[in-house]
Amino acid sequence: MNMPKRVVIIGGVAGGATCATRLRRLDEHAEILILDRGPYVSFANCGLPYYVGDVIQDEQKLLVASPELFRKRFNIEVRTRNEATKLDLAAQEVEVRDLASGQVRRERYDALLLAPGAAPIRPPLPGIDLPGIFTLRTVPDSRQIRQWLETRHARRSVVIGGGFVGLEMAENLGHRGLEVTIIEMAKQLLPPLDPEMAELVRQRLIAHNVGLRLEDGVAGFDAGPDGSLFVCTQKGERIPADVVILSIGVRPEVSLARDAGLVIGPRGGIRVDDQMRTSAPNVWAVGDAVETRNRVTGEWDLLALAGPANRQGRVVADVIAGRTSTFHGVQGTAVCGFFGLTVSMTGSTEKSLKRAGVSDFQSVYLHPGHHVDYYPGAKPIHMKLIFRKSDGRILGVQAIGEEGVERRVDVIAMAIQRQSTVFDLEEAELCYAPQYGAARDPVNVSGMIAANVVRGDLDVVSWSELGLKRDSIMILDVRDPGELQGGRVESAINIPLAQLRERLTELPLDKEIWVTCGVGQRAYYACRLLRQNGFRVRNLSGGYQSYRAWHPLDGTQRG
Ligand SMILES: Cc1cc2nc3c(=O)[nH]c(=O)nc-3n(C[C@H](O)[C@H](O)[C@H](O)COP(=O)(O)OP(=O)(O)OC[C@H]3O[C@@H](n4cnc5c(N)ncnc54)[C@H](O)[C@@H]3O)c2cc1C
Repeated sequence: MNMPKRVVIIGGVAGGATCATRLRRLDEHAEILILDRGPYVSFANCGLPYYVGDVIQDEQKLLVASPELFRKRFNIEVRTRNEATKLDLAAQEVEVRDLASGQVRRERYDALLLAPGAAPIRPPLPGIDLPGIFTLRTVPDSRQIRQWLETRHARRSVVIGGGFVGLEMAENLGHRGLEVTIIEMAKQLLPPLDPEMAELVRQRLIAHNVGLRLEDGVAGFDAGPDGSLFVCTQKGERIPADVVILSIGVRPEVSLARDAGLVIGPRGGIRVDDQMRTSAPNVWAVGDAVETRNRVTGEWDLLALAGPANRQGRVVADVIAGRTSTFHGVQGTAVCGFFGLTVSMTGSTEKSLKRAGVSDFQSVYLHPGHHVDYYPGAKPIHMKLIFRKSDGRILGVQAIGEEGVERRVDVIAMAIQRQSTVFDLEEAELCYAPQYGAARDPVNVSGMIAANVVRGDLDVVSWSELGLKRDSIMILDVRDPGELQGGRVESAINIPLAQLRERLTELPLDKEIWVTCGVGQRAYYACRLLRQNGFRVRNLSGGYQSYRAWHPLDGTQRG
């Protein structure tokens, strides 16, 4: 009989624990050892902000599985507070320090999985080590923050970084009754989004009295004579804070891999192939520590999300067990909720496509209700669908709203995964009853608008292009006059759709006409009418609602 395989796994949370348990299901005889330098394995990192916010009140709920459960249920050995300090690739051994006893030992492996995750970035700013400044990655981190909030009776909080975790922390600190200020170096919140979509996020935070400092960085921290804490910004502000949460991103944990000579990619993650093999024999890597191919752009990507880490862990278990599974890449499907708003996205954004040098794409905006208007409580979903103009292949979607947002993004995520086109979205047969959706679901509508563009029935233009062309085009607003009281586009002429056929002589044949309305639907009808009467027309995608995202009422300029 063959000797059982000895599999050592460094990091026992999303990627590592998933690999271990799947491997046990595939190979009853493998000897599986999980090492983790923290006090817990298999804990719910994604739940940590909600524990800080006291939405999750019992810390035990964050601990999905204990070492004992791993041993009893899966015959997997878990050693917590054991840090892998060195890889000896030639001998196929890992050097491990027991953090409790200080003892160092070596563990032999036939297969080694690196699942060490990522570390929160903590820049060496003046005062960074003052008490009250926290990062959030582990259960002990969240416990410390809770204790600090409670013992110091904290009232004022500053969150540094307006990304997904930063906004979840803002929501949770708000939930505990703290004042929240967010400092973000970029011009917008949620930097992965396109700027006009992020504008909706900004408006929601302002409505919830969150203080915002965009385009400002932190210069350092300062303590007052009584020990009070101040955040000093690059623009010269000195913001008092009882607690500071640093959430400016994470860096892949690659020190072990780098020291052992494994190939690290240009984005700073461990380079792996489509079976998650590193450049060293019998060594695999998964999760936040690796770079993977973006399935839309084909570029290498760093993506710190739990879903890919789990799926990669499963692939590694399969491969170690002798199966031929592969990992097909990432597309950045994400969702985040705060202050009643859900923000979700998948695939590429306009920003990321431009960065990748892709020019064959088009965006359309729409603002459908999450279910039919006649059923009480319909909430708008603000969507931006991006697709290849030449053949309609779907490239990405961003959606924001209060209800039904992530369901639409999940459908489109699957469509992207299947390399579908906007014509497939038109055709998709989705759930419908009045309290859930519409016979033409927002997903269908996004496909219909985009398909009109690809078929050449509709020419769309983004409000972002207005600045360059304002003098050479005419803007036609086809809303009813009563609607204009809620706001209008400067220099637009107004002819309500119902009067358009009778008033065609008022429109120029020698000038391009950009047509708008509330959300883009009536402008589409107008475009079809005008085009068939010989006019050169384009639909300002998303109508006045999108205009306001580009031109907020408080005068802030997006993009
Ligand atoms: C606050 C927060 C909220 C999040 N929310 C979401 C969310 O809502 N949705 C989502 O998809 N993702 C979310 N994420 C991201 C998600 O948790 C990670 O992408 C995922 O956990 C990565 O899995 P991993 O296995 O690569 O690393 P991790 O889950 O971080 O596990 C790595 C483990 O390796 C251990 N380790 C590191 N180095 C060593 C060493 N040398 N020796 C021994 N052990 C070591 C660490 O102690 C750690 O326990 C969130 C993350 C955080 C921090």
